[in-house]
Amino acid sequence: MSETSDLSDFRSDDDQSEYEPPPPPRKRKKKLKNENLWKKNVRKLKRSLGEEYTSARGKKVSKKVFKHVTTCCSKKCCIKLDQNAQRRLFCDFWNIGDKAHQDSLLLSCLEKVSKLRENVGPGKLKRDNQWKYFLTVDGLKINICRKLLLSLLKISENG
Ligand SMILES: [Zn+2]
Repeated sequence: MSETSDLSDFRSDDDQSEYEPPPPPRKRKKKLKNENLWKKNVRKLKRSLGEEYTSARGKKVSKKVFKHVTTCCSKKCCIKLDQNAQRRLFCDFWNIGDKAHQDSLLLSCLEKVSKLRENVGPGKLKRDNQWKYFLTVDGLKINICRKLLLSLLKISENG
């Protein structure tokens, strides 16, 4: 809980009041603050590296472990990537250890395709944007489904 959110809670109770809230207590020592910052950075790094860490809310998040994906969609795109290729992609992604780089790597796996849908109605043409997902193995772009990308790299939809 940060000091700013405490303040906004206080204000929302009584918006009309001219009363200035007292300054937040400064009991916490600098040392503790640095320690918290350090813990936060360690958590961030561990998270980026896919290592086990405990979230700020005390929830334990287990280490990302490679698992050969053998099921995905009806197209079975996972069989285009053998176990070694999958392992390499997984390791490459989690060895980055940097959220921003991981995000840009993920973005490079996405391709926007706009498709014209003609059967929307008489005289109507609807542009339909879709995302294509692919991974690059040995310089070759391999089309895969979203499900395979998420389960291979162990990325959950909610982060
Ligand atoms: Zn698939």
